[in-house]
Amino acid sequence: MEVKIAKDAGFCFGVKRAMKMAWNELEKSENGIFALGPLIHNKQAVSKYEERGLKTVEQVEVIPSNKSMIIRSHGVGESVYSEAKEKSINVIDTTCPFVKKIHNIVKEYNDKNYKIIVIGDMKHPEVIGINGWCNNNAIIIKTLEQMNEIIFDNSKKYCVVAQTTINLTLYNNIVDKLSKEIENIEFYNTICSATKVRQQSAKELALDVDCMIVIGGRHSSNTQKLVDICKEVVPTIAIETKLELNEEELRKYKVVGVTAGASTPDWIISEVIEFLELI
Ligand code: SF4
Repeated sequence: MEVKIAKDAGFCFGVKRAMKMAWNELEKSENGIFALGPLIHNKQAVSKYEERGLKTVEQVEVIPSNKSMIIRSHGVGESVYSEAKEKSINVIDTTCPFVKKIHNIVKEYNDKNYKIIVIGDMKHPEVIGINGWCNNNAIIIKTLEQMNEIIFDNSKKYCVVAQTTINLTLYNNIVDKLSKEIENIEFYNTICSATKVRQQSAKELALDVDCMIVIGGRHSSNTQKLVDICKEVVPTIAIETKLELNEEELRKYKVVGVTAGASTPDWIISEVIEFLELI
């Protein structure tokens, strides 16, 4: 079997940076470190960090005073920093710089009395964090249809940002509609190219193989998006690790392509490639 690997696959810049910072801190720490929410959407990687002393919690409340806490690459709202400060918690901030830039825009415009609009999914941790920089008062839009339910006030000024992983076509469509409805509006296209680049290379590779294997966490939305893109072109198998691969099933393909979500560590990708190369 011939195995081809997508040009861009696996950890993006922000996740790579966050995971490295977290690991370095864990190596220095003797009593373990808390992480606010799972570091990434990858069970296997999180387990590896937990074995080294990482404790994942959902709220600052449960972290004892004077301990260390990692803020993951998705970022968090302003109140989390204040809560940590009150408890003298040492913050290891691994927020991706691209997400941090959105926090700064939102804070600046909120302070200038602009109403903030976030194009994204209100349940996604990144969007929850962004909303936390304008007192949780942002209008969050995920679909064009949703816009019909919102009444905009043309006596106000608006500022629009986007979840970094949102689809560009959706962003453009919503921006078009917003510009027609609101007179005083400023747009910041804060979509991160890492997602787009991964999606493009997955599609290109899918066109060139008999079957695609997409590696990544079941709860990782960018991995699921890669699965959908590949499925439109060739039979596609979604896995978290090599253990889910079925040798018999794979034997019917001559050329297999491999890609991985932005939260899939290199070692998991390498294990899959090694397994395939032996078939
Ligand atoms: S996808 Fe982009 S914004 Fe999100 S963590 Fe990666 S580099 Fe940062």
